[in-house]
Amino acid sequence: MILVTGGAGFIGSNFVLDWLAQHDEPVVNLDKLTYAGNLNNLRSLQDDARHVFVHGDIGDTDLVASLLAAHRPRAILHFAAESHVDRSIHGPAAFVETNINGTFTLLQAALKYWSGLEEAEKTAFRFLHVSTDEVYGSLGKDDPPFSETTAYAPNSPYSASKAASDHLVRSYHHTYGLPTLTTNCSNNYGPYHFPEKLIPLMIANALVGKSLPVYGDGQQVRDWLYVGDHCAAIRRVLEAGKPGETYNVGGWNEKANLDVVHVLCDILDALSPASNGNSYRTQITHVTDRPGHDRRYAIDARKIERELGWKPAETFETGIRKTVQWYLDNQAWVRDVQSGDYMHWLERNYNQRDSLPG
Ligand code: NAD
Repeated sequence: MILVTGGAGFIGSNFVLDWLAQHDEPVVNLDKLTYAGNLNNLRSLQDDARHVFVHGDIGDTDLVASLLAAHRPRAILHFAAESHVDRSIHGPAAFVETNINGTFTLLQAALKYWSGLEEAEKTAFRFLHVSTDEVYGSLGKDDPPFSETTAYAPNSPYSASKAASDHLVRSYHHTYGLPTLTTNCSNNYGPYHFPEKLIPLMIANALVGKSLPVYGDGQQVRDWLYVGDHCAAIRRVLEAGKPGETYNVGGWNEKANLDVVHVLCDILDALSPASNGNSYRTQITHVTDRPGHDRRYAIDARKIERELGWKPAETFETGIRKTVQWYLDNQAWVRDVQSGDYMHWLERNYNQRDSLPG
């Protein structure tokens, strides 16, 4: 049994689906179902007894302790977070609450649980913290990519809160010996991505004839990784990572935001041409840049490649094509998110939190 937090979000739900496609080991999935949590992502597991969904907050000490005592997981995989940079600029409090205080609560509960395990279980236990490359700040055009030894320099309330959580995780290993692992990954894209983030937003807007808003000059560079490759990296780190270590995860795919939008438009032009015959590129507009917008992120993923033998299976070209096709095939999912209908899933299906099945 593993305990996943935030498993109804974008990466967490992809991870749970991938995990159960490859293992019979059950998953307890603790998620608060904020606006970013969507149980429609896990609809295929509704009758699967290997998936136990629990609606709750990682900051709820009693709930977390009772889940650990009841399910006795061999690992905690911590995805739950407030994750959107723009939201962190306008409302940083939730980021401090979940990303810092919530991670602290989870660590405290994990430490207590781990301390009480038998020696063999103690050695095998892992606390895997899923984090971001944004903790390293912004790179200049010619700077080398972020490695595991790059100094932290977070620039947004989001990245600062993730940096704080990374430090707490590190300290629980060095101070108490908790077998922690941390992954710092670049920008993910793929199925079930909430359409407030660049790639799903552009696809969704393009298809309904809305403008495609690009921040500033669109020359902000990000490294992009297909979400399935991130999930595979997390499984590999869980399996073979060395406790106390951090691993950078990236796709060696540095792209300027505007170039990403151009690629999306070109694929959509080929797969689903606009009814007016125009290229989707004509819908691109430039809007005022985000304050403090980091110019460039790039990941040096050589450590995980060398030490754990992980490599991405998708190139940017194959991954982005798959992603666009997924959004074309799942427009009802997007409409459900945009209308807010997905949030009523709980009320429609269950009346009580504790009666939620897998
Ligand atoms: P997301 O916003 O899509 O999902 C977050 C999930 O956490 C949601 O299901 C939400 O309901 C849940 N959640 C939020 N607060 C909670 C709380 N207090 N208790 C329990 N559940 C709570 O995020 P994502 O994009 O899937 O990111 C998952 C993790 O990966 C985050 O920690 C993020 O920092 C990290 N990460 C994301 C990316 C990316 O490109 N999206 C890249 C690198 C790392």
